[in-house]
Amino acid sequence: MSSAQAIFEELDFTYAQDNIYFQTIDSILDAADRLALPKRLKLILSQPKNELIVHFPVSMDDGSVRLFKGYRVQHNNVLGPYKGGIRYDNSVHLDHIKALAAIMTVKCALMRLPLGGGKGGVQFDPRSLSSDELMRVTRRFTSALGTNIGPDVDMPAPDVGTNAQVMAWMADTYINLDTKRKVSGLSVVTGKPLSFGGSMGREKATGQGLVYVLEEMLPEYGMSIHECTFAIIGFGNVGSWTSKLLHERGCTLKAVADHTGALYEEKGIDPFALDRHVQEHGSISGFPLADPISEEEFYCQRVDLFIPAALEQMIDLEKAEWLRCKVIVEAANLPLQQEAESYLLGKGTKILPAVLCNAGGVTVSYFEWKQNRQSETWDLDRVDRRLKRVLIQAARRVKDMAKQQQCDLRVASTCAALEHINEVYEMRGIFP
Ligand code: NAD
Repeated sequence: MSSAQAIFEELDFTYAQDNIYFQTIDSILDAADRLALPKRLKLILSQPKNELIVHFPVSMDDGSVRLFKGYRVQHNNVLGPYKGGIRYDNSVHLDHIKALAAIMTVKCALMRLPLGGGKGGVQFDPRSLSSDELMRVTRRFTSALGTNIGPDVDMPAPDVGTNAQVMAWMADTYINLDTKRKVSGLSVVTGKPLSFGGSMGREKATGQGLVYVLEEMLPEYGMSIHECTFAIIGFGNVGSWTSKLLHERGCTLKAVADHTGALYEEKGIDPFALDRHVQEHGSISGFPLADPISEEEFYCQRVDLFIPAALEQMIDLEKAEWLRCKVIVEAANLPLQQEAESYLLGKGTKILPAVLCNAGGVTVSYFEWKQNRQSETWDLDRVDRRLKRVLIQAARRVKDMAKQQQCDLRVASTCAALEHINEVYEMRGIFP
């Protein structure tokens, strides 16, 4: 029986082996067992500190009223205030958000940021709403969260389906609800527009961080970032920036997929041109400088790097069997189903885990929060230099742990994060 099974049974909580939250906790507690960390740490991390579910009505443009369901999960804050994205997507549900909040606890600890793990979302398709409706959903959701979020409590950020505009509406609503915080209330969210307290480099941060991690890790596999071919699923914030930054380093984008289909071009797709097309048309569909291909053809492309940058759990065993890449670079959180991951590791495919690869986003979010609190504005060079330092140190921590524990990089990342969380619990003790 695994540690997670034992703890869920002790707590009398039901679980299913194929549940995304159970699987996430199972892998975290496995890493804790590997380091022989105390049972109290495993008990604490097995459940989020707070799970908030809100229902709120919103007037739609046609005069009807629609009821929305929103979530904010605060997993652990022993290192600092909760931090994590807000997602707008039809697939949002509680266990999903709980798993992603737990991943944020691990990610912030691995980066050694003074932040805890949180995540939230509202279940709907943002593409089906007008801009005014989106604003009303965002403002009602923010007011429903009330003082459960705040610059010292819990700071949301953009994720799938949300962007800088949504963050600006959240910050404005929060500031209007808590009028004592006219200035400091700004840091309630990160990923804001530059003109309203955002940080230089935040929009590209997740892609930029991923590039720094690749520069550090690829030479270990005898590869150079300057001559890789890659395929990417998802061409939103993370996918488009990752593609543009890799292209600038000399990599070739061979194939790309999003929610509307997939494209291929042997000589390489120009991600800047594709980005302009997506800004104009909302998806990669109809891009004239590449050929449409099927999903199977997309996954079967022979490339050096395969980069999932869309939603969780998209790669099942069948798709894993199609893959012909040397390295999987997880830009999205939890993109691989458990069986797919075991199959790929067994076959010798390298997997660079999301808690390392996509941590650039939360790291620059931390810089934004810091700048807001100190009324400072850092230039892009300063942001990028600091981001690089944080990510390279984390990548080296992971490599050292993998050598010490003789384990894969996902297990090593989790171990390196838990070691730090445990150290802080040792110092702080359990209140009272
Ligand atoms: P986004 O909403 O900007 O883009 C999502 C992309 O996924 C879009 O291109 C969409 O077409 C594609 N997609 C959706 N459903 C799909 C499907 N069924 N098949 C193929 N493609 C599909 O979101 P984002 O901010 O780029 O986030 C992408 C991933 O990166 C998520 O897992 C998110 O949690 C993670 N992430 C984001 C950030 C950030 O700073 N935005 C930071 C860390 C991790």
